[in-house]
Amino acid sequence: PARPVARGRLFFANPGPTNIPDSVLLATARASMDFNDPAFLAVYDACVEGLKKVLKTKQHLFMYTASGHGAWEASLVNTLSSGDHVLIPETGHFSDSWAKMAKALGLRVTLLEADWRRGIEMARIREALAADTSHDIKAVCCVHNETAAGTRLPVEQVRAILDEVKHPALLMADTISSLGCFDFRMDEWGVDVCVGGSQKGLMLPTGFSFTGASEKAMAAHRASKHPRHYFDWTEMLARRQKSFVGTVPVTLFYGLQEALRLMLDEEGLDNVFSRHARLAKAVRACVNHWSGNNGPQLFCQNPERASDSVTAVLMPEGHDAEKVRKIALERFNVSTGGGLNKLGGKVFRIGHLGDLNEPMILGTLGAVEMALSLAGVPHAKGGVQAAMDSLASS
Ligand code: PLP
Repeated sequence: PARPVARGRLFFANPGPTNIPDSVLLATARASMDFNDPAFLAVYDACVEGLKKVLKTKQHLFMYTASGHGAWEASLVNTLSSGDHVLIPETGHFSDSWAKMAKALGLRVTLLEADWRRGIEMARIREALAADTSHDIKAVCCVHNETAAGTRLPVEQVRAILDEVKHPALLMADTISSLGCFDFRMDEWGVDVCVGGSQKGLMLPTGFSFTGASEKAMAAHRASKHPRHYFDWTEMLARRQKSFVGTVPVTLFYGLQEALRLMLDEEGLDNVFSRHARLAKAVRACVNHWSGNNGPQLFCQNPERASDSVTAVLMPEGHDAEKVRKIALERFNVSTGGGLNKLGGKVFRIGHLGDLNEPMILGTLGAVEMALSLAGVPHAKGGVQAAMDSLASS
């Protein structure tokens, strides 16, 4: 085996995919069935309604058998035309990847560069939109939660800016690692296009992604001339499911039905959010404690922007994050996320989203603290105690 056989569960603390609740796993264990079977269609229709409740929208929803990248692509090719100008506030690896995709699809992209650790200042976005008096910018694409940096971008403030400067650009939001973790309100915040995926806050296996689309986005879709087929919303509207060009991932919908029951009926969305906030606060308390003795520190330097779904931890100079991750995995059966892009080796990430509770967080933090010691990384011992104190007082 690649590593010694470990008893007990793998503690999975990656920021996506995430832990899948047993009842969701069991719900997906179904024989194949026709995706036009009336019994499935009833489940499917209920899932669409439930997912709209999580997105807080009454508008359109299109789904794809694809990971989040598919929904990213769908958002662009359905509403824009070759050569259109999009503005992307930089948040980190994922804003840059969406920008790279937009360029590859023939769009003109302005990436508003920003400090990944502090998060972009809203004034920069305002300045860029106010300066665009000819309304050349057709869409502003925001990553609501930057999974690589552990930061969030207040999408609702971007809407306020668009309104204030009377700019008609579409507002797009990537909610891949925020949806079902902390608040997102598609309709109330005037988000025209939002992008989500199955494998994070929704606690499902990877395998489908989706796009919410406002009436304004649908009007842009009708005017858009971008070549497309698999992701074409008009193609989808002609089908019974009003989504999916091709085979529908039927079993995932049985999982989604159960995940929605857990989130909306059993726990309640507001409680889901407060659980994420509580766990995130404890992780930050732990990392802040470790930072004593020149230890690892929070990558996010702006507490207002700290993410409730993932914490990126910056290693002290000269210490390799991959060494810590390797020890945590091989010795303690705890999987954490690595640093992406320019943060490779410098950062490791603790995912605290999805199906997770206090002992799971404490177990992960305990293993990471041991791994720091074994890797010879300086830190103030007692981070787990700081997390316990935080949880006990929340
Ligand atoms: N956007 C964000 C914020 C993400 O975290 C990810 C994946 O982690 C993606 C986009 C890309 O999604 P996928 O890997 O499902 O294609």
